[in-house]
Amino acid sequence: MEIEIQLTPDPIAETISPPPSLGAHGAWLEFRGVVRGEENGGNISALEYEAYPEMATGEIRRILESLGTKFPCLAAKVIHRVGVIPVGDTAIYVGVASPHRGEAIALLAGFMDRLKQDVPIWKRRALPPVAANANLRTSGPGASADSHRRPQNILSVNEALAEIQSCCRPLPAIRAPLAEAFGRVLRETVCAPSDLPDRDRSTRDGYAIRQNDASESFRVVDTLHAADWKPCQLKSGETVRVATGAALPCENLRVVIQEHVERDGDRIRITKHESALNLRQRGEDVKAGQPLVPAGAHLNAGRLALLASAGCTQPLVSPRLRVVHFTTGDEIVSPEHTPRPGQVRDSNSILIHSLLRRFACETEQAHLPEDFDLAKEQIGNQQSAIGNSDVLLVSGGASVGDRDFTRPLLEWLGFEIVFSQVNVRPGRPLIFGIAGGASVPASRLVGSLAPPDKVRVAFGLPGNPLSHFVCFHLFVAATLAKLTGAEPVKFRRGRLGAKLDDAPCPRETLWPARREPTGLHPLAWASSGDVTCLTEANALIRIPADRGSIEAGGEVEFLSTD
Ligand code: AMP
Ligand code: MG
Repeated sequence: MEIEIQLTPDPIAETISPPPSLGAHGAWLEFRGVVRGEENGGNISALEYEAYPEMATGEIRRILESLGTKFPCLAAKVIHRVGVIPVGDTAIYVGVASPHRGEAIALLAGFMDRLKQDVPIWKRRALPPVAANANLRTSGPGASADSHRRPQNILSVNEALAEIQSCCRPLPAIRAPLAEAFGRVLRETVCAPSDLPDRDRSTRDGYAIRQNDASESFRVVDTLHAADWKPCQLKSGETVRVATGAALPCENLRVVIQEHVERDGDRIRITKHESALNLRQRGEDVKAGQPLVPAGAHLNAGRLALLASAGCTQPLVSPRLRVVHFTTGDEIVSPEHTPRPGQVRDSNSILIHSLLRRFACETEQAHLPEDFDLAKEQIGNQQSAIGNSDVLLVSGGASVGDRDFTRPLLEWLGFEIVFSQVNVRPGRPLIFGIAGGASVPASRLVGSLAPPDKVRVAFGLPGNPLSHFVCFHLFVAATLAKLTGAEPVKFRRGRLGAKLDDAPCPRETLWPARREPTGLHPLAWASSGDVTCLTEANALIRIPADRGSIEAGGEVEFLSTD
């Protein structure tokens, strides 16, 4: 297939001829996306588009080539205008030539879907009627400084993670009872107040004797149950009957299990000798003063059990994070409904809800209408929940479609947008914003509903479930870690257990995989809307931009997702 791609600041011609290769027969299908006079319910005079030109052309070519294998066409021509485009002008032109109409339609439809999701061209802003005229009139003196602003860069994964690190800071720690501490992050290292175990204790039901006592028979001088504490110095030829867990009466004893003893009244004789001491020695788990659980650790069942054994009943922990999560998209219906054509069951709500359960969060979820004004009205009724939240997540609408209002919505809520594009597949249109926070860099401070010392963060996540999964593990988890004072999320190194088959992609890729004893096994995924691979995925393999396939045995970086 002949492919021609142009990114241009100039107006797109009114008529474009089909390529000569089409000949006299076949279809020449054209699509023009024209800038309309309205954006998110308000009048506008122009839209400003930005692009990452090399990457955008590479990605457009890749998409067309891959669609061309499914829908064979003769030629495709894509012209995308960038910069300020006045209302009524064409922003995007696509022409497809093919012997049959069906292939051209299918290729065009597939391309338009992928263009929005995968190509680094984005709507920078809508220009209001008056200001826009001034901007459009001239590029000389008097033109708005804004119109000359450097295009906002698309960030690499590392740059985006560094931004998150620099914008967020741990929320103040609180003391919480153990029963409420599960999933929270310990904020001070807890050390053992005394030896654990506190004294030598029997691990078996039997008879305690001195370790070096070679007597033929022993006199039973006492009986000790698990709760007894009766210190005494045992003499040679003496023994005490002990239960499992009982504290031994003095040091340097061992326990002969009752199965190796014959008892007659108050005397015993050992019938079988063994070397095992059958006791837990004082301090063998940990000595007084040694660290038990380090600051930054997530409190799981085992760590909580250890804190309980050390008597640390009110550990200093991160507060429960308050998360508000909105889904968007009029096509989204709740999973109980049978979707009508065009509708999609909501899988992101339960995905996010479940992913958040690993962190101690109070999560509120709701759906927003796909109309900016109605969405604002609904949010108006939930203002306090949002104002009190630490993290706001919005699913979908993060891209540059006509109805994608996540960015203006976050700005309306007082968030300053730190970045809105990350060079990652899947998950490129990812918005990250912050509000409040005394320690946020001064340049980033914005007015907000929250108390001035409290940082609130917001993410606009691309709607596709696999993008959600990737963006959560890569960026949201890093944010939650920072806010809760946990160890930062780290990439690990591992080897591929099977070949990872991929064409070179200009974006860094996070590829779902199954981590097994034999190595990392890449899972098949058709698109970022693919939910099937999530059932198996417990890792994301990091593939550098432009890398392509990696052979089995190759060393890679990966992120654990379980
Ligand atoms: P968007 O990011 O809003 O352009 O959405 C991209 C794709 O994700 C569309 O195909 C949506 O239908 C889909 N999507 C958006 N939200 C959800 C959701 N909550 N559950 C499942 N799919 C979704
Ligand atoms: Mg949407």
